[in-house]
Amino acid sequence: MADRPTPTAPASRLDRLRALILAEHELAALIVEDEVNVRYLTGFTGSAGLLVLAADGADRFLTDSRYGTQAASELVAGLRAEVVSRELLDAARERLPRGRVGFDANRMTVARWRRLEQELPDGVELIAVRGLIEGLRIVKDAGEQERIAAAAALVDEIFDWLLERGLEGRSERVLAAELEHQMRLRGASGPSFPSIVAGGAHAALPHAQPRDVALERGMLVTFDIGARLDGYCSDATRTFAVGEPGARAREVHGIVLAAQLEGLGALRAGVSGVSVDAAARSVIEAAGFGEQFGHGLGHGVGLEIHEAPRLSRTVAADPLANGTVVTVEPGIYLPGELGVRIEDLVIVEADGVRNLNRTPKELLVVD
Ligand code: ZN
Ligand code: ZN
Repeated sequence: MADRPTPTAPASRLDRLRALILAEHELAALIVEDEVNVRYLTGFTGSAGLLVLAADGADRFLTDSRYGTQAASELVAGLRAEVVSRELLDAARERLPRGRVGFDANRMTVARWRRLEQELPDGVELIAVRGLIEGLRIVKDAGEQERIAAAAALVDEIFDWLLERGLEGRSERVLAAELEHQMRLRGASGPSFPSIVAGGAHAALPHAQPRDVALERGMLVTFDIGARLDGYCSDATRTFAVGEPGARAREVHGIVLAAQLEGLGALRAGVSGVSVDAAARSVIEAAGFGEQFGHGLGHGVGLEIHEAPRLSRTVAADPLANGTVVTVEPGIYLPGELGVRIEDLVIVEADGVRNLNRTPKELLVVD
């Protein structure tokens, strides 16, 4: 862990955002209070922090007395924590510069917006903006890529641990709990989303919840798991067989794997998420299972488990940027029968992808 490359100084993130609020929205300031966005911009990992990013460079960072010491040690150079004893938003209101002040309409609740709007100082006009910081977060710098790669490697270790111990007769719910325990023992703060362990027909639910049901011979079982390590998420899915699953299950697994490889092969900087989705989907459609693949092909992963961009039929056809981190996860779901999904986490590069997962994808038959 000590050998990680030094991340790009997050101070430059503040400056990039400053350029954006000026150029695109002519804002005098932007209020940032979402925990993840605050962390990304300032380095602060606590739960009570509010940033007023100012076009003139006079940024303010507010926190409460629980976090004064932590903020002082975590904040990027150039930012100083002001400890306030009132609601952060009320304290921020008094510190706003005159002019157009942005708030994130995707993140701020209506109740907080009303609170902000009350007693707004003269000369301050509130402007709704959306997704500015999420847009900056799409391309991961070297330090972020290494953190995500470490979180992905941790999940591969968990798959190794799982396969060594076997599957038959074990309960979905107990397995899910054990996997999450193993993640924590290996340094994760926890799972990056509730773990999915789904055997047999239950795996036909893409977001199945683990049950108190034992895995039996002849079943396919889908494990969709991720770890949060050093703030960053991972996400991977494998579908294993508990003993020989039969010809039909093997056929469906083979189609999903072919689709997943097709999607990975189509993915590189400059192509759109729509076209990568289409490349994988065409394999499943050609095999006659198009209706049984209802979700998008993948999503961005970073500080959050689901973030921009999406690989799907319904997104804008913007080109994917070098350094974007996404999942590639086609699936086929046959209600009452079985489900298969295979998912890798990859970094988009100029001439292809760097796959962060190494657990085998051909159908593993486990006892
Ligand atoms: Zn997943
Ligand atoms: Zn995913």
